[in-house]
Amino acid sequence: MSTAILWLRRDLRLADNPALHAALAAHARVLPVYIHAPEEEAPWQPGAASRWWLHHSLAALDADLRARGAVLHITRGPSLTALLRLIAGSGADAVYWSRQYEPAALARDRGIKDALRAHGIAAHSSNAALLFEPWQVATGEGAPYRVFTPFWRAVGARLRPVDPLPAPARIAGGAVPGSLALADLGLLPRIRWDAGMRDTWRPGEAGAQGLLDDFLDVAVGAYQAQRDVPAAAGTSRLSPHLHFGEIGPRQILSRLCARAGGHGACLAHAGIAHFLRELGWREFSHHLLYHFPHTAQQNLNAQFDAFPWREPDTEILRRWQRGRTGIPIVDAGMRELWHTGWMHNRVRMIVASLLTKNLRTHWLHGARWFWDTLVDADLANNTLGWQWSAGCGADAAPYFRIFSPVAQSARFDAAGAYIRRWVPELRAAEPPLLIEPWRDTALLARSGYPPPVVDLAASRGDALAAYRQMRAGAGC
Ligand SMILES: Cc1cc2nc3c(=O)[nH]c(=O)nc-3n(C[C@H](O)[C@H](O)[C@H](O)COP(=O)(O)OP(=O)(O)OC[C@H]3O[C@@H](n4cnc5c(N)ncnc54)[C@H](O)[C@@H]3O)c2cc1C
Repeated sequence: MSTAILWLRRDLRLADNPALHAALAAHARVLPVYIHAPEEEAPWQPGAASRWWLHHSLAALDADLRARGAVLHITRGPSLTALLRLIAGSGADAVYWSRQYEPAALARDRGIKDALRAHGIAAHSSNAALLFEPWQVATGEGAPYRVFTPFWRAVGARLRPVDPLPAPARIAGGAVPGSLALADLGLLPRIRWDAGMRDTWRPGEAGAQGLLDDFLDVAVGAYQAQRDVPAAAGTSRLSPHLHFGEIGPRQILSRLCARAGGHGACLAHAGIAHFLRELGWREFSHHLLYHFPHTAQQNLNAQFDAFPWREPDTEILRRWQRGRTGIPIVDAGMRELWHTGWMHNRVRMIVASLLTKNLRTHWLHGARWFWDTLVDADLANNTLGWQWSAGCGADAAPYFRIFSPVAQSARFDAAGAYIRRWVPELRAAEPPLLIEPWRDTALLARSGYPPPVVDLAASRGDALAAYRQMRAGAGC
């Protein structure tokens, strides 16, 4: 009776999981395994919020497996050692997994594939995470794309919904001795700061499908108009589920097209087409990280290597992290992040602009904080988001485009509902003072809300001067 190991990493689902499907098609027994080896993803090993999510996602997956006659075997890395031990203990002759595209994971997986084959074990990997893998999309000259619009045009022309693979009804698994209990991995925080995340999220495949159902029932029609309004439930909130592979983009595409009434109708539907474009940004970020792996640490635009960043002032950085900058829309976003592990995309851009431009702090300081606090922390998306915001990435917002938090608040949170939700000490204030409380010192004294960490107009001028200095140095 042939046995295969299904090495689950960031494909924590049973439906439309090609690795699971292929293993079941070729083997009588399939052993699902999770190997905890965060050091293999260094320097971007999962942060605290991601570990919280992972714990609950693995618990949900184990329950789903048990309902089908299998269990999730949990062990610690190094991954190759753990796989070889499991192979010896189970008699497995093949390992199946879904591909990851981050530089450290890619290098590890390549090494493991070679080592397994050298031991006479078959190693099969497949794509569960993307519509197209990074090497499947190229410019006319065969080069990677660096600009989103032509990338998306090329992808869009090839985009076709395919029927997702069903979740298997039964998985003949059987147990291998030596599984750890999930709690042994110590993924949950010792000090329970996770109440807000528990109230907000339902990690796991069923949670992902529930959010997609809600989004298709309620929000997709108005997505284009509402997606930039942070107080509205205008986006899908699928990002952590996508990151952990509890749902895949092929499943989403298929549901979107079914909802629209076919492929052509799908692209013609304004809300659906715009939502697909956002999934396109996710594809683009993976394309970039795969082809330019150094960008997780370094500027894609090397001109920015000479940019005069400021050494971050610890106290100012802490005020930004904890939502005490004295700029309400920024503090609202940073508090939403701290409380729920997620922040609205529009506000992510605003807080990133303040940090990298007004405060002239290197984008990596922001990326690292997001990495630790986001439940959807994703190396490709986070790198793209930060480099885009800082002006040094592919197809980035030009450095001289500095978001005014005041103008952004007035445009996207005009009544101040989002600020009121997250900055309760200003709840009684009305716009425009709710947006610019520093204009009323009595309000600051009454509310205990801090004065701004930086003068927005002066720091904007300083940032532009620093940018000109960099350009002049580069002879631009
Ligand atoms: C500074 C900064 C850092 C970011 N860090 C991350 C991160 O670590 N992880 C992450 O998933 N996203 C990141 N984003 C992108 C974006 O903010 C989130 O994907 C989005 O807010 C998730 O909410 P949603 O699922 O409701 O999005 P929706 O609007 O419902 O979009 C659907 C999906 O499309 C993808 N998507 C949407 N916008 C983007 C984008 N701009 N770039 C890449 N993919 C996108 C996400 O997978 C998202 O779940 C970052 C953006 C910025 C500006």
